Amino acid sequence: MAIATKIAGFISRSSWIRKMFEEGEILRREFGADNVYDFTLGNPNVEPPEAFYRELLSLAQHPLPGMHSYMNNAGYTETRAAVAAKLAKDSGLPVTFEHVVMTCGAGGALNVVLKTILNPGDEVIVLAPYFVEYTSYIDNHGGVPVPVWTDRDTFQLDVDAIERALTPKTRAIIVCSPNNPTGVIYPAESLRKLGDLLEKTQQKTSRHIYVISDEPYARITYDGKHVPNIFPLIENSVIVTSHSKDLALPGERIGYLAINPRMPTAMQFMGGAIYCNRVLGFVNAPALMQRLVANLQDESVDIEPYRSKRDLLLRELTAMGFKVVKPDGAFYLFPASPLADDVAFIKLAQKHRILLVPGSGFGAPGFFRIAYCVDMGMIERSLPAWRALAQETGL
Ligand code: PLP
Repeated sequence: MAIATKIAGFISRSSWIRKMFEEGEILRREFGADNVYDFTLGNPNVEPPEAFYRELLSLAQHPLPGMHSYMNNAGYTETRAAVAAKLAKDSGLPVTFEHVVMTCGAGGALNVVLKTILNPGDEVIVLAPYFVEYTSYIDNHGGVPVPVWTDRDTFQLDVDAIERALTPKTRAIIVCSPNNPTGVIYPAESLRKLGDLLEKTQQKTSRHIYVISDEPYARITYDGKHVPNIFPLIENSVIVTSHSKDLALPGERIGYLAINPRMPTAMQFMGGAIYCNRVLGFVNAPALMQRLVANLQDESVDIEPYRSKRDLLLRELTAMGFKVVKPDGAFYLFPASPLADDVAFIKLAQKHRILLVPGSGFGAPGFFRIAYCVDMGMIERSLPAWRALAQETGL
């Protein structure tokens, strides 16, 4: 085989979204793009806020000497300080630039954190349903993913199940809120309960278990809900995030990691993370984007279009008989599959030219994901097809 057997295996197991995209291409050729309802990709269909273009123009008009040079591997001090100021405000804690490393997106930040903390064979708990890339990222650094289900009716944290999954090899837990794919936000009380469990475990065993809070959707929330800052709630916590969704810049690869200033080993952790950012080959986050986002820490895309799409789909699908937990944020719905076999359901949906991702692709068979970061017109046009699909499954 021309490529590593392990990679070939990963490709064949983790290619649901790619497979659906390819199926979509065939359908689009046959029926025309307007008659195919593609809900597979989490690619924001909104443009960055005006402020982004203002900053971009101003930088182009007033270039700074050396602005395209290498820099400290952690990023520009001014950008790190701007991120830290926002986190200090949100957490009420003394977060400074020294707690922040600018990264190539949230994906880059996750890889940096995992490389920093994992010894070979260390276990990382992922909470099903989960963003499937986690398992590949954990494997990248010699770790072992350990899936633990959230509550199957609410998708909220099941701290007792997490407790049962802890072993002497547990090194970290990844939480994602608002969640991809369920859209739920974990409230402060349940994160505090998780923090208490980890503190108790640390007192008994002297083991540090990190909570990695993956938050790229943190500014996309609805109904007055917000994502509680994790730093006051869990001592050994690190935030990984990006501006892929909140500023609609996924192709620009700009994000950061930030560690809890309360973490006793914070500076050792930072030394490791800065080194890993370098040797993973990222070297540093893109210079131009760092300059831009320094002044955009309080900005966000308009979330109103996302909210109205969520509301429309939720209302219509519920009326058709689909069972779905109301999302608090992000731009996904994760309904129960009307057929026990979620892959069979996805194939049936395809016959109605609706493209979806099966829950199996998120470690959660029996469900499916709808990404509603799509054109409102497409959602409206898709409704008759949804009704026909619901009828065919006996809903
Ligand atoms: N984490 C979650 C939950 C995501 O949904 C995504 C992207 O879709 C990422 C991380 C990666 O984000 P980025 O594009 O910033 O690397």
